[in-house]
Amino acid sequence: KKLGFAVVGLGSLAINQILPAFAHCRHAKATALVSGDAAKAKSLATTYGVPESGLYSYETYDRLKDNADVDIVYVVLPNSMHPEYTVRAHKAGKHVLCEKPMANTPQDCEAMIAAAKAAGKKLMIGYRLRYEPNNMAMIKMAREQEFGKPKVILCEAGFSIGDPKQWRLKKALAGGGSLMDIGIYALNAARYLSGEEPVAINAISYTTPGDVRFADGVEETINFQLRFPSGVLANCVSSYGVGLNRFRVHAEKASFELEPALSYSDLRMRVLRGGTVELRSLPERNQFALEMDHMAECVQGNAEPRTPGEEGLKDLRAMMAIYEAARSSKTVTLNA
Ligand code: NAD
Repeated sequence: KKLGFAVVGLGSLAINQILPAFAHCRHAKATALVSGDAAKAKSLATTYGVPESGLYSYETYDRLKDNADVDIVYVVLPNSMHPEYTVRAHKAGKHVLCEKPMANTPQDCEAMIAAAKAAGKKLMIGYRLRYEPNNMAMIKMAREQEFGKPKVILCEAGFSIGDPKQWRLKKALAGGGSLMDIGIYALNAARYLSGEEPVAINAISYTTPGDVRFADGVEETINFQLRFPSGVLANCVSSYGVGLNRFRVHAEKASFELEPALSYSDLRMRVLRGGTVELRSLPERNQFALEMDHMAECVQGNAEPRTPGEEGLKDLRAMMAIYEAARSSKTVTLNA
């Protein structure tokens, strides 16, 4: 049986990726839509076979409680809204899949985790790359030390951001600049490729003066370094000024990389060894379908998701430390 998902927030990600991905799911189907725009919701409902009884506004959202066809609520709203809509969904007795970044502060993440516990429901964060075959293969290569011990990890994630009026450039809604939105992929990859939590963090940031896109005080580019307990070092770049899309692991006997590493499709894996380049890309799968199926299977089998709320909280703690390191120009230490 397929579990029912309510998709909350019908913006670019929901319309272009999530709703079309249900067609590739084995365990998940769309049974409700939540939007402030009733006409848009109705039209998408027709396209994706969502019944009219499954249409909600933000005002009627809590009535999801009475909809037995909704098992899981997928929160796809601007970052600052994730905590409220996650907590309200848990109070309505639903499991929650929430987009990244989990929230704007570690305190909000803790409140979301507490709400899931109180409701006895699952909370998963939408780290789609943790369900993507090439990224999973790269983790395996690092963990099994196929090319010896990993020593240095390089993770770069960025794009040139457009419309200066969008919520991503409003600090209150986004929580920060490029780091919160795209640099989080570099941070998360450094953590999953090392398999460890950072114990020391340096950072330096730069925002082009006078660029209207960054008038609200969100950072453009932020470079950060992480030291992990085993001695692995990571250099990471996050940017809203330039396109960056690569994860690379330098191990004792060879280097291996994904470039592009975080796109929705066409990821390319390479092994670089003694001047040779071996292509190792794996067949493409729909990342959002894999992610939603994982959530549905965890609910069906009462298992903990691979990327639970605690994973989102770890990234938020590290991102706060990265901002602190950039602000203070000092190394920030963390407990592993
Ligand atoms: P978007 O701006 O395209 O969509 C946001 C939706 O929220 C819109 O439909 C908008 O109407 C609605 N909304 C409700 N209240 C709002 C308010 N006060 N201000 C602005 N919008 C409001 O954004 P998006 O790109 O779809 O991103 C949504 C979430 O998904 C974000 O948390 C983002 O980080 C995440 N995201 C994840 C990925 C991924 O690959 N996993 C990709 C893109 C976005």
